[in-house]
Formats: sequence, C-alpha cells, structure tokens
Amino acid sequence: MSSQAELPVPLNVYEKHWRLFVDDASIKEPATLPVQNPTRSFWLHPTSENPLAKEGSQGALSKDADICIIGSGITGISAAYHLAKAVAGGSGGTNPLKVVILEARDFCSGATGRNGGHLTPAGFLDFGMRKKVMGSKEALKQYALEAHSVREITEIIKANDLEEKVDLVSGGHFDLIFTEDELTEAKSDFEAAKAAGADLDYVRWFSRDEMIETFGTKYPAAKIHGHNLWPMKYVTQLYYLAQKSFETAHGSSLRLHTNTPVTSIKSSDDKKRRWSLQTPRGSVSCNIVLHATNGYASHLLPFLAGPNGIIPTRGQIIATRAAVSVDSLSRASWSGNEGFEYWFPRPTTSSENPLVILGGGREIEKDFELNETDDSIVNKQASKVLRAFLPAVFPGKFDKKDAPEMEWTGIMGFTKLTDPFVGPVVDLNSNASGKTSYLGQYISAGYTGHGMPRTYACAEAVVSLILHEMGGGTRDDWVRPDWLPARYLTWVREAADKGAQGA
Ligand SMILES: Cc1cc2nc3c(=O)[nH]c(=O)nc-3n(C[C@H](O)[C@H](O)[C@H](O)COP(=O)(O)OP(=O)(O)OC[C@H]3O[C@@H](n4cnc5c(N)ncnc54)[C@H](O)[C@@H]3O)c2cc1C
Repeated sequence: MSSQAELPVPLNVYEKHWRLFVDDASIKEPATLPVQNPTRSFWLHPTSENPLAKEGSQGALSKDADICIIGSGITGISAAYHLAKAVAGGSGGTNPLKVVILEARDFCSGATGRNGGHLTPAGFLDFGMRKKVMGSKEALKQYALEAHSVREITEIIKANDLEEKVDLVSGGHFDLIFTEDELTEAKSDFEAAKAAGADLDYVRWFSRDEMIETFGTKYPAAKIHGHNLWPMKYVTQLYYLAQKSFETAHGSSLRLHTNTPVTSIKSSDDKKRRWSLQTPRGSVSCNIVLHATNGYASHLLPFLAGPNGIIPTRGQIIATRAAVSVDSLSRASWSGNEGFEYWFPRPTTSSENPLVILGGGREIEKDFELNETDDSIVNKQASKVLRAFLPAVFPGKFDKKDAPEMEWTGIMGFTKLTDPFVGPVVDLNSNASGKTSYLGQYISAGYTGHGMPRTYACAEAVVSLILHEMGGGTRDDWVRPDWLPARYLTWVREAADKGAQGA
C-alpha cells in the first residue's frame, strides 16, 4: 500500500471533497455560459474529425419546434435518438414532431468532447453510501441503469458496424487501490452489494504481487467490466442514426444549430407555444424544453446553483506517450485514488508506443476545482501532478521528462450525492405555486464526472416521460423504468435529500 510521499496526488480525500457540498455555503453562483475559446481537446481535433462542428451555425435559425433540446453532448443527442425511435415507430401520438437542438459552441464541445473516454458501468464501489441514502433495492438500480446504458450503447455500435469508427475497445476496467482505507471500503462495498443481490461473479481481485508481476505496479486492484471509445465520434454517429429515423417519418424533422447559445427562456407570445428561447441569432418558440446542459444547467435555471443543485467542476486531462508498448500496459481502462485519476491507452495498430489519456489532479486544489466554468485554461497544479502520476504508479513505463502531447480541461456537473437530476424542472426552493412555473421544461443533468454510462438511460427516461405527458399522461401514471432509481427523479429528490441528511 502507498504512503502519501510515494504518489504526487493527495490520497483518501473523497470525504473532504464531499464535505465541500455539505459545509461550503460559498458555492452558490449560477454557472456562466460556456466560454467561447476552450482549450484544445484531443477528441475534437483536428476539426475534420468533427464533421458536425459548425452544423446549422449559419443561415436561418429554426423559428419553431415542438421540442427544443439545449446542449449537443451525449445527453442531448441520446435524447434526440430516443425521440427518433419514437417518431419512427409512430408511438406516443408523436407524429409529426419537430425537434431543434441548440448548442452554444461547436457540436459536442462540452464535457462529452473533452472527457476521459471511459464507458465503465459501476460495479459495486459506493454501494455502502448509496444503500444508506436510498436503501438496498434502489441502490441496486443505479448499477442496473449503468449496465443497461452500456449494453445499449455497445449494441448500437455493433449493430451499425461502428466499432472502428468510434474506436470501441472492450478491455475491462481496473480499479487500482492505493491505501488500506480504500481497500477496506472497496471490500465492504463489494460484500454489501453481493449480500443485496448484485451479481458480482465477474469481478476479479488482483493482489499486490499479481499486479507487480503482470502490470509492473504494486497496487492491488479489482477488475470489472469496462470499455473505452472516442466519445465525440460515437455521439456524431448517434446523431446520424437519429436523423435517418426522423427522415423516415413524414412531416417530422430534426435540426441542429451549433454556435447558438440560449441566453434566456421566456414565455412565448405565440399562443400555440409555451416557451421562447432567446439566442443572439433570434428566438425559437416551442412547447417542450429539455435542458441537456449538465455543468452549465444553473445558467438558465439559477435555483440549481449551490450545493443542493449542480456545481460546475473543472476536470483536466493530458495525452501522454507511454515509454512501452500497449501490450505491457493492457488494453483496459484504469482508475485509481477513489476515481480521482483515470487513464487508458489509445488503441494503436502500429508499433508506436500508445498515447495514454489521463485525467485527474483536481484534488490538489483545496476547492477541488468546484465552481469553475472556464475551460479555456488549464490548472498549473493539476498539470504538475498529472505529469508525475503515471511514472509513479508504473515505474519504468512512463518517462517523467516527456511532455504531454496535449492537455485540456472540461466542465463537469457535480451533485452532492453524485446523482443526476432527471425529469420535469422542479424549483426545489420555491413554494407550491412556483413549482408550476417551468411547465413543459425538463432536465437530465448532473452526472458528477460519470456520465458516459448514465446519460443514455437518463435521456431514455426523460424522453419517455416527455412523450407520456405530451400524450396526455401525468408523472403519476407514468411507468418508471425498473432500472431507474426514484432518487434521480426531480420531484422525488427533495424528500430523498431530507432522508440522506438524517442518514
Ligand atoms: C475532463 C473530464 C473527464 C471526464 N471523464 C469521464 C469519463 O472518462 N467517463 C465518464 O463516464 N464520464 C466522464 N466525464 C463526465 C462526462 O463527460 C459527462 O458526464 C457527460 O459528457 C455529460 O454529457 P452531457 O451531454 O450531459 O453534457 P455536455 O457534454 O457538457 O453537454 C452539454 C452541452 O450543453 C451546451 N450548453 C450549455 N449551456 C448552453 C446554453 N445555454 N445554450 C446552448 N448550449 C448550451 C454545452 O456547450 C455543451 O456542449 C468527464 C468529464 C470531464 C469534463
């Protein structure tokens, strides 16, 4: 096990991080809009890799839609995909349906286009905490939701022969364990999840000696299911699939307007539509708004600012060249230090040593980079520890002197208990009459740096609710998918939070 002196990052700080949400009253400013000059992310460059980057940014802006989706990350495009399936299937009284996606910057240039590329369904970690908050049965749903999302995503990729296009690698995932405290917690989560009925037979524990022998690192690990991919390329393909389905449904349409930030949402003057979305290019009227804005959600929904809402949080990544071949690193993805660091080698067909995408380092700052919306800069302290991290964990496999080939930041949306907000927009601070003031607005956001295995399912749930309500149903007679924890639902959350405080 490790002592602090051996690794460049602070260890056992998860609890300290969480306390910021409970104790730090200063975290309360609404998010800004996304900045216009973000750092260069590996996944978005060269621009030719992002064919939809500027889609719909010139010419006429759509004036009217049934549904407007704000945000073109994996949430927004997954929602478009689920709507496309409903439209093509003619379900829910949806035809014809006009959907418009509005994106502040280039296509998919938020967290999804700047992340670590891991698609890892959680195995059992944090089960103890979740059980305390929601009870065993509901806690298990969180894991079921992630398994559902990842299964669907990989099936879409395989069914459409997209593995190579999106660089899908299904190599499993190692959770490296640095300290005795972490190991005790991980074993306790494992036993508790198993006792609650989770099928964990696939989990493989590796001892320190096995890890030294196999991977040249002295930290024990648990190996779970996991994949890595090129997130923006997957989202691009998902958009194309959605577009194709819309084209088959007569009268329906899907339009994307990038570089079109929504600056405010007003009641519409047009009697046929509820809402009017204001942008520098003009306004768009619609009945339904889906906020797929993740870390930026509180810009348009200021009541979400603060520790009970969604805190924009800056994450940082480097792309660094290994000093050894991919065979001696494995094709798996990895995380360590309670998930604060995460990395994987990019697939390579040549004899060249692989580029490793490594994220983390924000725990070096006292405020953990919470409340930051500026991804035009990198944090110098985080840069320093990221450069030192892999050489310390895998002695001899990375050269400390090698500068990263790229480095960038992105904005995540953190919530106190790591759960996203899914469902109709409900102002938790308002009185009963205020709660109707967002009628027709929905949200799926706040994945706390772990969105790749959750956004697809959350978008599926919110779209199902939207279509149900468009068809005359209510949230009371909507059937919740059996993998969706009730706690994720916006209208259930307030009561659940009160329960958690007493836990
Ligand atoms: C550095 C980093 C590393 C990460 N690593 C991983 C990982 O390896 N695995 C994992 O599972 N998760 C990871 N995450 C988290 C994951 O990327 C997110 O949870 C996920 O991408 C969220 O998707 P989204 O579509 O909800 O948000 P985003 O991708 O952020 O999309 C939101 C979009 O909304 C747009 N927008 C915001 N406000 C407005 C507005 N007013 N008008 C118009 N458009 C607006 C933004 O420009 C943005 O494109 C990481 C995140 C970061 C930043």
